[in-house]
Amino acid sequence: MLSTTPSLTSKLPEFGQSIFSVMTALSNEYGAINLAQGFPDFNTPDLLMERFNYHMKEGRNQYAPMPGVSVLKEKLAAKLEKLYGTHIDPASEITITAGATQAISLVINTVVNAGDEVIIFEPAYDSYLPCVQLNKGVARFVQLALPEYKINWEEVKKLINSKTRLIIINNPHNPTGTLLFDDDMIQLQKLVEGTDIIILSDEVYEHITFDNNPHLSICKYPDLARRSFTIFSFGKTYHNTGWKTGYVVAPAHLTNEFRKVLSYSMFSVLTPAQFALADILDHEEYYLELNNFYEKKRDLFLQGIKETGLKPTPCQGTYFVCADYSALSDQSDNDFASYLIKEIGVGSIPVSAFYHDGQDNKVLRFCFAKKDDTLHQAIERLQKIRI
Ligand code: PMP
Repeated sequence: MLSTTPSLTSKLPEFGQSIFSVMTALSNEYGAINLAQGFPDFNTPDLLMERFNYHMKEGRNQYAPMPGVSVLKEKLAAKLEKLYGTHIDPASEITITAGATQAISLVINTVVNAGDEVIIFEPAYDSYLPCVQLNKGVARFVQLALPEYKINWEEVKKLINSKTRLIIINNPHNPTGTLLFDDDMIQLQKLVEGTDIIILSDEVYEHITFDNNPHLSICKYPDLARRSFTIFSFGKTYHNTGWKTGYVVAPAHLTNEFRKVLSYSMFSVLTPAQFALADILDHEEYYLELNNFYEKKRDLFLQGIKETGLKPTPCQGTYFVCADYSALSDQSDNDFASYLIKEIGVGSIPVSAFYHDGQDNKVLRFCFAKKDDTLHQAIERLQKIRI
């Protein structure tokens, strides 16, 4: 007999609905202030919208070249040289992508074969693990130790073997808001020297570092850069996460393979957006002032939650702060996040969602990429926590 409903074997059986959608839906249902999802509640610069419109009206609405529009790649190469002192060839070493998420997925598709091992630091951004599994790679986890969430390089060393194909680093780090420092980069360099290991460096928050700490891009370290795919996103820098635009920097031989994979997935990225982004790159104040802009918001939020019993972990970058609530409750982080939404009116993300085994350290992540007004309202509510 013919079957009318074909069955499908899930390629990602262990993954359900994302916690971001769950917490956002719950926040909406209870009218809570949503500090869960990581995006700004303020608009992208007028200049960017004006330039996008301009390029659409000028007729730049057909396919862009597969690796990206030349003028954008040339300006990015100049910026990388200025900020990180690295010489990048825009024609063969920069590729524009539909956001960092697509870039991560395609880098992993390019690099990881069945049985290859990939080192992931946890808590981790949620797209790394499923992308590794889709390629039948084997994830090996290193736990960042609380409360500083520092990398223990000795543990990394123990995991490295002949099957290790990729190490994924994320700096500045989501969800913890920590940074890598020079000694981290030197340790990483020592560990991969003489191996075939490739590095994926997720640097989407490159312009959001605090307390005068510079962003240490992989691009600053030639011995690492020659084995790395470095991933950036315009969305975090220009408050336009919905444009889903980013780029990948990698040596020509790696870029070459990456572009083959890109050609057969997306091919190319929204043309007028690429021209508009090239235009705004002429105005460096938009990215140079971002550290200061977000540092003020971090300080406002940290000051506001001081008396609440929430104990923040160090926040050196990104627009997230993690807070330990164990002094307030012994509920699971999922339950405590639900309580905050339903009873207090503030949405957050339980950090267990960033661990493959759901480990619960009683920590929540709050996003402070919000108008000061929104933050003040959230603080006022959080000051009412009574368990
Ligand atoms: N990496 C990290 C660490 C992120 O936080 C995000 C966005 N939440 C991304 C990648 C994805 O960036 P994009 O929106 O450009 O796809």
